[in-house]
Amino acid sequence: MINKIIPPHTLTPLSPEYDPWDPIRSLQRYGKHILTSVELTVTNLCNMRCEHCAVGESLTLTEGPRIPLAVVLKRLDEIEQLETISITGGEPSYHEKTVREYIVPLLKYARDRGIRSQINSNLTLDLGRYELIAPYLDVMHISFNYLSADDFFKVGFVRTDRTVSRATAEKLYERMVENTIALSKGGLFVSAESMINYRTHDKLPAIHRLIAEMGCRRHEVHPMYPSAFAANLPVLSLAETRSAISNLLDQRNKQLWMLLGTLPFYACGTNEEDRKLLARLRSEPNLTVRNDPDGRNRLNVNTFTGDVYVTDFSDVPPLGNIHRDTLSSVFARWEEHPLNRTVNCHCPAAGCCGPNLLVVDSYYKDVNFMERKAIL
Ligand code: SF4
Repeated sequence: MINKIIPPHTLTPLSPEYDPWDPIRSLQRYGKHILTSVELTVTNLCNMRCEHCAVGESLTLTEGPRIPLAVVLKRLDEIEQLETISITGGEPSYHEKTVREYIVPLLKYARDRGIRSQINSNLTLDLGRYELIAPYLDVMHISFNYLSADDFFKVGFVRTDRTVSRATAEKLYERMVENTIALSKGGLFVSAESMINYRTHDKLPAIHRLIAEMGCRRHEVHPMYPSAFAANLPVLSLAETRSAISNLLDQRNKQLWMLLGTLPFYACGTNEEDRKLLARLRSEPNLTVRNDPDGRNRLNVNTFTGDVYVTDFSDVPPLGNIHRDTLSSVFARWEEHPLNRTVNCHCPAAGCCGPNLLVVDSYYKDVNFMERKAIL
């Protein structure tokens, strides 16, 4: 199936002006939300058990066979407007066999079609398996919420049944940092994501500096919302989240692309402080605010069961299965779903296409977004 691989230098570079994961682009282009992005869960295994893990409840210690890749590729083939894929887990490269037999062929397929790709990884395993992936990958996405091995130790193994010593955690932390530096130096686009939560909110500028020092090309910043393992962690108030972002903006390195996502602030809001922050975000150089892809331009496919979800971490049950449904037909089903109809708003002047379901649940249960309009 793979005849030629498109050399990466012929593809449009990812930049603040070109982020094909943002659903606003396809909405502007086609005049409605369409499926341009597919996320594939390729494993439920992981060597870590972070306290905030968004898919924590799905992690397992063993797993059965994956659906043959040809079946998955056939479903991807059917989506003419496909622009991006994301590969997620667990830790997708937990087994090198998965890297060689599933991930690399998937990435080659994407590159062959000019589709952009992302992998979500903790980068704590040996560099060799990431080097297998790097030549075909557009974005290596990591989570980085730490100032030291101690922070990593406190967060990374909270939900494990095994005893993980501080020395083991330190080794993994150092390997993650070394891998990030090595892959960045080798030319890979590493995007490090930090959460805004009760542990990080006052450390973000220092975390940002470390991310820049490691050579990452982008710093993603998302508030943490209570789901899966994070369900019972303390939730920041909107004022605390706002202040954490302002403080980060005051101290950020403006040469580094900063991408904010899943923000709980909208142009239709009436709070003056929120509006000031949004105005500041619009004027910051090298900074983008990504609309939420889940259920807007993206579906998630579990490559073991074939189940298709609107996100990999929401409580919405599967909407279909790739053994019997095309992904476009599942997407059409979601468009008619009552939940989607509560958040499917769009204010073109603000470049906004509505809130994420977890955000509504956390902060805006009584707000009818379908009746609001951006105030600019
Ligand atoms: S699209 Fe929805 S959330 Fe965004 S500003 Fe408009 S009404 Fe508010």
